[in-house]
Amino acid sequence: MEHRTAIVTGGGRGIGRAISLRLARDGFFVFINYRAGEDAARETLALVEEAGSAGRLLPFDVRDTQAAKEAVRGAAALHKRLDVLVNNAGLTADGVFAMMPKDSWDLVLQTTLDGFYNVTKPAVREMTKAKRGSVVSIASVAGLVANRGQVNYSAAKAGLIGASRSLAAETARAGIRVNTVAPGFIETDMSSKLPREALLGLIPMGRPGLPEEVAGVVSFLCSEDASYVTGQTIVVSGGMV
Ligand code: NDP
Repeated sequence: MEHRTAIVTGGGRGIGRAISLRLARDGFFVFINYRAGEDAARETLALVEEAGSAGRLLPFDVRDTQAAKEAVRGAAALHKRLDVLVNNAGLTADGVFAMMPKDSWDLVLQTTLDGFYNVTKPAVREMTKAKRGSVVSIASVAGLVANRGQVNYSAAKAGLIGASRSLAAETARAGIRVNTVAPGFIETDMSSKLPREALLGLIPMGRPGLPEEVAGVVSFLCSEDASYVTGQTIVVSGGMV
């Protein structure tokens, strides 16, 4: 059977691992990108194989334009197709804006926005050849509403939403759909630094989300059930936003 293929950036742990596993269960061959977390990425690959699917590790830093281009081209060449790209890699470097070092600003914007450019551009070129594809980027509720201490992260995630909406308009006639998912408070390494009790008070459902609950929405956006959905942002926040 011909494999549908997917690349998940930051696919080794947290939300990215749940997305890799869910797409594997959906029948995709999954390329698991990581930057530093090789052990976690290997564990994810083992879980993908346990789920009866297959995949491969795809190490590169999403901030590195050349490395991303080569990796995406190589991945697309393996099965001569690329059906899905999930831009999930991301990080925070929180702090009050007036005190924020330039490094914190640059790190978050480069990872999220340069990362989007570096990985999505070669992916869209591959998808254009086949006139089919789905790009899903993991934004955040911080890209939609105010969040003190996260001016850099809000800027990056709002930028991701805007870039995706415009790209969706550019690629719609080439059969490529482009959407974003905006999670609220999801239990992962990243959110373990946040004030849990204060955040729970803001969530109507009264609990954090699970990575699998984000992955389910990504799966929908990558499926034929979403064949007429593009340029959208789906919020997964337990009613927080
Ligand atoms: P984690 O900190 O658990 O994982 C972050 C992932 O991003 C890791 O796989 C990491 O790879 C990867 N990554 C970071 N920088 C790079 C880079 N330069 N190149 C390649 N990969 C990189 O975070 P989450 O799973 O919680 O977050 C996943 C996404 O979801 C992020 O975009 C985040 O902003 C977003 N999000 C998370 C929320 C939450 O509450 N957890 C809420 C809203 C949005 P490695 O292991 O190799 O370092």
